Amino acid sequence: MRNQAVFLWYFCTMLQVKNVSFAYTKSKVLSNISFDVPRGDTLAIIGESGSGKSTLLKLIFGEYDLKQGEVWWNGEQILGPAFNLVVGYDFMKYVTQEFDLMPYTTVSENIGKHLSRFYPEQKELRTNELLKVVELEAFANRKVKNLSGGQKQRVALARALAKEPEILLLDEPFSNIDNFKKQSLRRSIFGYLKEKDISCVVATHDKNDVLGFADEMMVLHNKEIVIKDTPQNIYNNPKLPLVASFFGEFSEIDNTLYYAHQLRITDQSNFEAVVKHSYFNGNSWLIEAVYQTHSIFITHHTEIKSGSNVCFEIVQ
Ligand code: ADP
Ligand code: MG
Repeated sequence: MRNQAVFLWYFCTMLQVKNVSFAYTKSKVLSNISFDVPRGDTLAIIGESGSGKSTLLKLIFGEYDLKQGEVWWNGEQILGPAFNLVVGYDFMKYVTQEFDLMPYTTVSENIGKHLSRFYPEQKELRTNELLKVVELEAFANRKVKNLSGGQKQRVALARALAKEPEILLLDEPFSNIDNFKKQSLRRSIFGYLKEKDISCVVATHDKNDVLGFADEMMVLHNKEIVIKDTPQNIYNNPKLPLVASFFGEFSEIDNTLYYAHQLRITDQSNFEAVVKHSYFNGNSWLIEAVYQTHSIFITHHTEIKSGSNVCFEIVQ
């Protein structure tokens, strides 16, 4: 019986957003948004700047009162400031774009802020564990005001994880972190969330936060969810130019979207184009060429002189 209850509890644990609409002033920012995030899963929210990603995270967190729609976590309704003296719930942490740290205290003190002082040994162990997750061991005793933007962002991440939330909301979590650190930090954070079965909703404009880490992704556009699926399915069938552009350069040929690597320069074909520019891309070149009246993009292993005529084919 007990096992059954635990089993049921486990599978009921999820975030549910039901028919949420929201406006700051007169015009709506979000309209009729509904989705679920199962326990331990990561959902990435993408969309252009101003599409409502941060607003949606704030609504999930209970920062505003909802006139339309509901947000639930694990059978408990998330309510706004009209119902809660203090915004937020213990089981949910939110790392905003602003971080909100204590500047005159050390990295360790910031991370341990919400950990109990009555168990100093555990507090120290836990703080050290988190310093490792965000790769800040060397900065433990540095005052936060003397850190770079990216380092502050990492302190905010560690502090949000300190009391092991059940669900974590992240707003562009790696935006200030340089490329040297980004990829290893992503692996560390998302790996930690999976290991601890923590659900995550992450707003991002970086495809590298999504590919390889998110279980599902959702695209916001014109106040609505235009697509929600696994990153693989959306990548393979982006449907809209807006969605394809999130993943990289693409071309529209006969009403179909192709990524640059799906077009190949060849000796002969019915598709002819004139090269406009070649961009060095590391392990390849991106060739911009004019086909009929518009630009297309083709991945190629060498540079091609501007003005050259080329034939290309579609490789699926
Ligand atoms: P995103 O995070 O996707 O860039 P936001 O959720 O921040 O988008 O903003 C969505 C829309 O709501 C934008 O048009 C923005 O100008 C507006 N907005 C955001 N915050 C406020 C606010 N506090 N008051 C009024 N309008 C806001
Ligand atoms: Mg935002």
